[in-house]
Amino acid sequence: MSRRIPRPFAVGAPPTPGATPAPPGPAPGADGAAPSPQAASWYRLDAADRLVAVSSDWDRFALDNQGPGACAGAVLGRSLFDFVLGEPTRRLLELGLAQARRSGRRRTLAYRCDAPDRRRELRMVMTPLLGGSVLVEHRLVSSRTRAARTVQPSAAPAPAGWRRCSQCQRLQASDAAPWCEADAVGPSQWPAGQRLAVQEVVCPDCQARLPEEAVADAG
Ligand SMILES: [Zn+2]
Repeated sequence: MSRRIPRPFAVGAPPTPGATPAPPGPAPGADGAAPSPQAASWYRLDAADRLVAVSSDWDRFALDNQGPGACAGAVLGRSLFDFVLGEPTRRLLELGLAQARRSGRRRTLAYRCDAPDRRRELRMVMTPLLGGSVLVEHRLVSSRTRAARTVQPSAAPAPAGWRRCSQCQRLQASDAAPWCEADAVGPSQWPAGQRLAVQEVVCPDCQARLPEEAVADAG
């Protein structure tokens, strides 16, 4: 059973190879409120995708979101992929890391990491370092309040057939149904206050959207 790492899986801004990473820190929310992202600001992988360093705020995010088992002492030395939920998400991350290493250039991946009552857009920045290491940073782009909706993600198929894209956070009720925002799911399908069981996948749109080469302002 996999435990998610503190989602500094919200992604941030990488320094130049060899430099000391400067965690970007959460930006103020678009609504002016201080967001509380479920993401620490950065972590560093070795050439075998093992977590070898994490940002100083890692444990705080871990304790807030996943508990002591996700603190730095428990994850350092382990593979990043021990903590990634769902094969499609794993493949997308593998692709981004491979592209960064192969090209020697920074890659970015826009994604959503919502809280029950907040819609959050983040950017993951993967910067290749010397010897196959990669610095992965999570940067909060925007954060807005919304009506609280809570999902229960799982790598296994959800009983009711609901799926959620791990990248854009849209939901799909069944194979033939369109992908839609959580706010667009009516109360008959998702009663207020109820936790929706979802299978964590990557939607076709996000599968087609390969990690982009970092733009000049990414770091
Ligand atoms: Zn998606």
